[in-house]
Amino acid sequence: MRIIIQKFGGTSVATKSSRSLIVNKILKAKEKGFLPVVVVSAMGRKGESYATDTLIELVKRENPEVKERELDQIMCCGEMISAVVMAAVLQANGLDAVMLTGGQAGIITDSNFNSARIHDINTESILDLLTKDKVPVVCGFQGVNSNGDFTTFGRGGSDTTASALGVALGAEMIEIYTDVDGIMTADPRLVSDAKILDKINYSEICQIAHQGAKVIHPRAVEIAMQKNIPMMIKSTFSEAEGTLIGNFTDEASNSNKVFDKVATSVTYLTDICQIKMFNLDDHASVNVFKLLAAEGISVDLINVSPGQLMFTIAQSFMHCVQRKFESLGYKVEFVLDCAKVSVVGGGMREVPGVMANFIEALSDNKIEILQTVDSHTSISCLVEKKHLKKSLEALHEKFHLAT
Ligand code: ADP
Ligand code: ASP
Ligand code: MG
Repeated sequence: MRIIIQKFGGTSVATKSSRSLIVNKILKAKEKGFLPVVVVSAMGRKGESYATDTLIELVKRENPEVKERELDQIMCCGEMISAVVMAAVLQANGLDAVMLTGGQAGIITDSNFNSARIHDINTESILDLLTKDKVPVVCGFQGVNSNGDFTTFGRGGSDTTASALGVALGAEMIEIYTDVDGIMTADPRLVSDAKILDKINYSEICQIAHQGAKVIHPRAVEIAMQKNIPMMIKSTFSEAEGTLIGNFTDEASNSNKVFDKVATSVTYLTDICQIKMFNLDDHASVNVFKLLAAEGISVDLINVSPGQLMFTIAQSFMHCVQRKFESLGYKVEFVLDCAKVSVVGGGMREVPGVMANFIEALSDNKIEILQTVDSHTSISCLVEKKHLKKSLEALHEKFHLAT
């Protein structure tokens, strides 16, 4: 069996005309001899009737503290509406499509509502449909726990469904269809001269995705990478070739212009709060991180120096952290509305002067750097969110990403 996974994101399934473009993509895969397994996200983005954010708001208006189990049950409805609509469209176009919830597709998870992990995939029902030349249309982003409760994988998790099914079914290719022509050197919504990358290594796109590029979920890449299944990021709305994600050898990458560069992409994360703490003894420093861990709050950009701590958290946790720390009498300063901007590139390993270029790009534009962190293949810094667009444009230009 030559199986292909074809995943369609929120904007791809949002309108009648975009759904007819999806029909063409599926028919093309069948013409090429593939058996497609379709995965869909909820229809549309924030503000649209059946989008995930709309469903969350519906419940949170009644109770902002609603339990995660209940949130998961409603969030799953978005993908179910979308999969039924898509199956109906395919049936109207002569394809024998069958809508499956995550559970019906055999996706079994733990009970960690809102960020469930897949334990097992029973591929029997999908394989049975494929042998009968039917087209499974699977709800992305969801599975079922041992009690039969619906669970979700965390925002953007339909990509994870696609990769997990790809691995479980031994697919030849995982295609991720979205609203851009592929993975780009920057988010085109913020950097107008961002350029499409024709191919990229699993490890590099993982890092770019972890640093905020939401074009693909990092977990989806990590899963596909385990079995070396190639992924293709493409647009539903064009015939552009897209970006191939794989494991390219050094030789292959050297022959590709993109990989000769120090940097591959600039990316960003927003809604970050910087926290500075002073006059702490050693015991208090340990306590701070233990307390954050107990609350399930992850920390980033951590600087520890004698008597002082500096780190960042998601801004949504700021009030909770403020209450806790102030009740313990810690001296805390919060800097709200920050953004983390990063330059990522496998090519910067052991290249001198990368940090100097990074700092120069921002200081030439009078952008204050609040904090920095670097690894062998990335440099990140914290800036005020109002400087986000300018920072990305300056770094994109400095690292010659548009050429
Ligand atoms: P989908 O609903 O199809 O999953 P997403 O909104 O999750 O789509 O991801 C696609 C969006 O990712 C694009 O519209 C684009 O604005 C954004 N994006 C961020 N960084 C990048 C990048 N480096 N390359 C391409 N798109 C990016
Ligand atoms: N609909 C879910 C979300 O908005 C999953 C996805 O789109 O991948 O996060
Ligand atoms: Mg997405």
